[in-house]
Amino acid sequence: MEKHILSKSSFIRGLQCPKSLFLYKNFYKERDAISPQQQALFSRGTDVGVLARQLFPGGVDASPSSPFKYQESVKQTQKLIDEGASIIYEAAFIFEKTLIAIDLLVKKEGQWKAYEVKSSTRISPTYLLDASLQFYVMTGCGIHLQDISIININTEYIRKGKLEMDLLFKMTSVKNEALKNQQYIKENISRLLDVAMDTRQPETPIGTHCFNPYPCDFMGTCWKKIPENSVLNLSGTAKEELFALYNSGIKTIEEIPADLNLNEQLKLQVDSLKLNRMIIDRPGIKKFLDTLKYPLFFLDFETIMPAVPFFEGTHPYQHIPFQYSMHFKESASSNLLHYDFLAEAGLDPRRPFIEQLIKDTAVPGDILTYNASFERSILNSLKKEFPQFSDEIDYITYRIKDLMFPFEQKLIYHPRMKGSHSIKNVLPALVEDLNYDSLKIGSGSIAMSAFEQLQNETDLFKIADARDALKAYCEMDTYAMVRILEVLEKVTL
Ligand code: SF4
Repeated sequence: MEKHILSKSSFIRGLQCPKSLFLYKNFYKERDAISPQQQALFSRGTDVGVLARQLFPGGVDASPSSPFKYQESVKQTQKLIDEGASIIYEAAFIFEKTLIAIDLLVKKEGQWKAYEVKSSTRISPTYLLDASLQFYVMTGCGIHLQDISIININTEYIRKGKLEMDLLFKMTSVKNEALKNQQYIKENISRLLDVAMDTRQPETPIGTHCFNPYPCDFMGTCWKKIPENSVLNLSGTAKEELFALYNSGIKTIEEIPADLNLNEQLKLQVDSLKLNRMIIDRPGIKKFLDTLKYPLFFLDFETIMPAVPFFEGTHPYQHIPFQYSMHFKESASSNLLHYDFLAEAGLDPRRPFIEQLIKDTAVPGDILTYNASFERSILNSLKKEFPQFSDEIDYITYRIKDLMFPFEQKLIYHPRMKGSHSIKNVLPALVEDLNYDSLKIGSGSIAMSAFEQLQNETDLFKIADARDALKAYCEMDTYAMVRILEVLEKVTL
């Protein structure tokens, strides 16, 4: 059997950037490490793929025993077809040195239909190319495909009791698009096989393609000489404009001419970096602080967004609040108190979450959050789901103020914020002794994935460890807000 040189993912990689394909083939170990956020996304895709098998139960799994043994799968697939199997999971084929696997291959009334499962809610142009390549390889191997479809998640589905697979998933035939793309696929297989087998590395410069359709995992290689003060690290405008500047010879922020027309966001970043100091609009900050009244709560929610709804009455990718941290200060000089809530895994957390929050915020006082639209939207959903708590939820929502406002409005800006008003950039710029580096969980998406994993965890040590890490992370978010407010109060003295 011929060995493959391209796979579905390396084909898409090569379309994104031929240099990325060359590096992948020749310098595989130089790839950037996968972040915990990306890892969580990959495993979500796999889980949904396995679940979708229930749409066509009773099939035979042709998956390889390891990702490096796809030849096994190709042989097994052929054997299953020869033996008359009618449902094959992870059927694999090689044609023109290109390997593909398809999640579900189903024979009905003598005709084959192929289904690729995606955990997303929409069909992207890249998914259409995936399906076009799968169609090309399968038909090239002599499979007469009556249809090829993408199965993805139906956001309209609301869980009532047991999962109903035919409602959770929706199928869309993409055969017409696949047929239109066949010549394009053929030409690009040939072009990318040349790239993959060449001994010379393509001279592809960095560009917007480094991020599209996926962030390239060779940025650590290609971007390592890009300095921190590069114009490419500015934010607040399209990447195309930054590359135009960079390619015109203006590589660093210091080299930007004073008379260059920049939008307000860019100008602030450039001025602050050139002056190497914080830029502060003291009257603007004072006006914001005057809107706050002690006692003050500092509140932050964490949510999960399961692709497959865990709980009754919820829909795919719904934000389900499972944790909050809250600091409380009676007055500017009083002691800081801390309260928190972390739901038990496996149970619907929404009702205990809102009941506890109502108790913890019962005394009057403004409630500071960072990016208030998020907390407000969660409270809004809870109000609809638990109308019996409407008045209490309104009382919380009414008192919410947004600590992000002065940073979003650039009333205060430090070069270390790197153009961002995210708390993860604002905190280290303003409060040097505090950061998320030593925490086991350092971002909302990792917290989300940690709690999702707890749903099926039985090891008590792992559960205790994850719960401690979640509590420490969420507490840091609200303690960061306390310290950021102190900085704002100080600069206006
Ligand atoms: S970082 Fe950019 S230029 Fe380098 S391999 Fe990746 S996509 Fe290509």
